[in-house]
Amino acid sequence: MVVAGGGTAGWMTALLLAHSAYGPRLQITLLESPQVGAIGVGEGSTPWLRGFFDELDIEEAEWMPACNATYKSGITFEGWSTRPGFESYFHSFASMLDNLTMPQFVDNVHARLNRADVHAHPDRFFISTKLARDCLAPKPQRSFPFDVWYGYHFDSVLLGRFLHDKGVQRGVRHRVGHVTAVQQHDNGDIALLRLDDDTTLAADFFVDCTGFASLLIGKTLQTPFVSYAENLFNDAAVALPVPHDGPIMSQTVSTALRNGWSWKIPLTHRHGHGYVYSSAFCSAEDAETELRAHLGLLDADVPVRHLKMRVGRMQKHWHRNCVANGLAQGFIEPLEATALLFVQRTATLLVRALEKGDLGERAQTDFNTTVNDLFEGTRDYIVAHYKTNTRTDTDYWRENAANTRLSPSLERLLRTWLASEPIIPGLNGGAFGKGYPIMSWYSLLAGMGLFPNAGQMRPATKEEARHDLAQIDNLIERSATNFPDHRELLQNIPLRSRENSLQAYFW
Ligand SMILES: Cc1cc2nc3c(=O)[nH]c(=O)nc-3n(C[C@H](O)[C@H](O)[C@H](O)COP(=O)(O)OP(=O)(O)OC[C@H]3O[C@@H](n4cnc5c(N)ncnc54)[C@H](O)[C@@H]3O)c2cc1C
Repeated sequence: MVVAGGGTAGWMTALLLAHSAYGPRLQITLLESPQVGAIGVGEGSTPWLRGFFDELDIEEAEWMPACNATYKSGITFEGWSTRPGFESYFHSFASMLDNLTMPQFVDNVHARLNRADVHAHPDRFFISTKLARDCLAPKPQRSFPFDVWYGYHFDSVLLGRFLHDKGVQRGVRHRVGHVTAVQQHDNGDIALLRLDDDTTLAADFFVDCTGFASLLIGKTLQTPFVSYAENLFNDAAVALPVPHDGPIMSQTVSTALRNGWSWKIPLTHRHGHGYVYSSAFCSAEDAETELRAHLGLLDADVPVRHLKMRVGRMQKHWHRNCVANGLAQGFIEPLEATALLFVQRTATLLVRALEKGDLGERAQTDFNTTVNDLFEGTRDYIVAHYKTNTRTDTDYWRENAANTRLSPSLERLLRTWLASEPIIPGLNGGAFGKGYPIMSWYSLLAGMGLFPNAGQMRPATKEEARHDLAQIDNLIERSATNFPDHRELLQNIPLRSRENSLQAYFW
């Protein structure tokens, strides 16, 4: 098997394949071009990345220091909404401890949807919000038996190097060469890759991890691309890292700017900053100036990187004898840092198909349906951030709010919410909101202050006002004392065997 591409997607795929039960039967060669580097951006993850390292038996204590990595308890969204009291909110990775406070949050949201004057902003209800903002690590001391969920931030170049070394150690053959042509069999399957040194690389099966080039699945097999441009406007970014050695927040901060949003991602030694914007509304030069002004670095001599993004997905991720993974299969802009989750899921689905020994048409169709569902569900969740914004300062934000090209599923979800009907049955039953946890939808919609008739609230009934916020504050305040300082913990990351064992997540 050939994995074409040595970015994060290529190495993650190669490692999962090599580690699988089918691995010993595979000879995996990973090919990387000396002329085209890995994209080298992408510094945030969802909590699922933990499963990738656990699966490969790689300790946090090993990979995190090698990648200047930090913990991520969630994302703060600043300035997306102008509704009073909702100008900022935190999207937590809800977990076990939150089971004690989430029902109150949901009750209050439902009451508020029915115009009762109760507190329904998510930030008071989740432990992660406090951990993130107080620069605490989301890993409690051992005597505290409630784990919380978390993701990571990391230097993507260092992560690439780490995965490369691990891959080679675990038997993946690494080859350097630039593909200049692709030869197909008469039936259309890919036969071999011709390299710039006039050698060839043949295989039965190819994984296309060539990034936005989509060399195999796109250029060679001509798989159609499904663009998301009509409801995700952003197609460019500018990145700017700034050294940092102070306290480390365990969160990403996403701040709405004039024509998109900026990220702030803490690593151990720097903050990664960037501005994701729409080139239809703003030039690269203006975006860079706005980001520099936002960071107070207008006159500073700090180099930036400009990037273009192709947002959408391949119609099929498995086509003929080729599976695409990573940017080669598609990309949803990085607002919720979901790209590596797609890589992990796609690679895992391929491993499962190989282990089952089923590479037939039916297996391919199921594979494509599952990956497409993941893309569409995530796209809807991201689009909902833009659709529910209330900024009026630029055409960009006004056009996002006025956008009517929503998927039927997202339209139904928003209609249900705004009719003050519970969305949990629809989310649980798969009628809408696929691919994102229930609590994420509640955090987003309540966090943006999307309540019908917000200006005409009525006093809450006794029943609606039954939850005592002071008790919740107290629980979260006291629980947080069990979590260590983030920077200190990163200097001595515990081994998995020393941690609590329960990782339950009920919502
Ligand atoms: C602005 C931005 C922010 C992002 N933020 C996040 C984030 O926070 N979280 C997240 O999960 N993801 C994020 N991503 C996505 C993330 O960067 C990618 O998903 C991830 O790096 C995987 O990239 P890749 O391996 O698919 O492609 P690449 O890193 O582009 O690798 C492509 C590989 O293909 C090889 N190649 C290309 N052409 C040839 C050829 N002709 N012959 C041989 N080899 C070839 C190259 O050598 C390279 O090794 C972000 C992306 C962008 C653009």
